[in-house]
Amino acid sequence: MKRFAAAALAALMAAGLSGCGWQTVDPDEARESIQVIAMDTVMIFTTYGEKSTHADYLSEDEVRRLESLLSRTDSESVVSQLNNAGGLGISVGEEVGGLLAAAEEYSLATGGAFDITIAPVVSAWGFTEEENRVPSQEELDGLLALVGPEHVTLDADAAALTPGTQIDLGGIAKGYASDRVAEILKENNIPRATISLGGNVLAWGDRPDGTPWRVGIQDPQNADRADAYAGMLKLENAFAVTSGGYQRFFEADGRTYHHIIDPATGYPADSGLTSVTVVADCDWDEVDGRPGVGTMCDALSTALFVMGEEKALDFWRSGVYDFDLVLVTEDGRVVVTDGIANEFEASEESGYSYEVVS
Ligand code: AMP
Ligand code: MG
Repeated sequence: MKRFAAAALAALMAAGLSGCGWQTVDPDEARESIQVIAMDTVMIFTTYGEKSTHADYLSEDEVRRLESLLSRTDSESVVSQLNNAGGLGISVGEEVGGLLAAAEEYSLATGGAFDITIAPVVSAWGFTEEENRVPSQEELDGLLALVGPEHVTLDADAAALTPGTQIDLGGIAKGYASDRVAEILKENNIPRATISLGGNVLAWGDRPDGTPWRVGIQDPQNADRADAYAGMLKLENAFAVTSGGYQRFFEADGRTYHHIIDPATGYPADSGLTSVTVVADCDWDEVDGRPGVGTMCDALSTALFVMGEEKALDFWRSGVYDFDLVLVTEDGRVVVTDGIANEFEASEESGYSYEVVS
């Protein structure tokens, strides 16, 4: 079940473009906003500056190019060619090779919580073709035997999979797309923008009035209400990427099954979290169009959702990567790491209790 309308509205509100947000826009400054449906989500590119229209359409072209390169459901894509190569090595090109290397790094760093070889399990639950069903434990056990980063062999721009292994870049592709869009913004001297790729938001620069962008964190318990927030982030030059079971799910036999799979069990992750938002700085000097901070945030939001509160906070404290977190728990708490506490605003009417952790 997808929530396009709610997602679009939430993104608009997050960008401060609805209601009173209008008054802050400098009328002398060129501004363009386009909506694009790609990678199974609603995207909104809102850019400012002389080349805003140009940057928006370049961004759209880039996202569509990436979709045709990385989509699992497009039989022509490089990912499909690799999935269908029957275990033979094929040339995937430098770009996909780089993304596979990044995916392997995050898989190893998160103890396998992030794993692109989860693809056949995602399909068994029917999330690839949107024909949802509950697979048997026997079926899942068979598929899990072919899950793990050791089933992907990478040699520069050539890759091979163990026969039967398949990859799904759905947990990282939008983050990579946001890194690519950041490169377009930089090349076109875009001073400020909000880029929303579903749950992946890039707050570029600040608002025209010099204040930070406001990025809402959807309340997972009220995912069908675009105005229901678990909190608000005030961000400048930052990525904020949210993973949550509420973003795609189905119901069967009175239970809810969502799309983020725990590679340890083959079942939708049941870690006590309802959403994870990973926030990290987007340093303009470091934007170079390669898998970067946007890709990292996307991989980690998926992984930490699988890991659950305790392991996610341990991982954050380990300092392996530089990021902050907003966790929303099933038992009604919102946990914010101290690096982002000053940029976080609680949502009084949400009913959540709020904690800052260090
Ligand atoms: P995200 O919305 O970024 O958290 O990504 C979720 C998507 O990533 C799912 O729809 C699947 O396509 C894929 N996926 C599900 N579970 C995992 C996992 N444990 N590791 C990597 N990708 C996953
Ligand atoms: Mg992700």
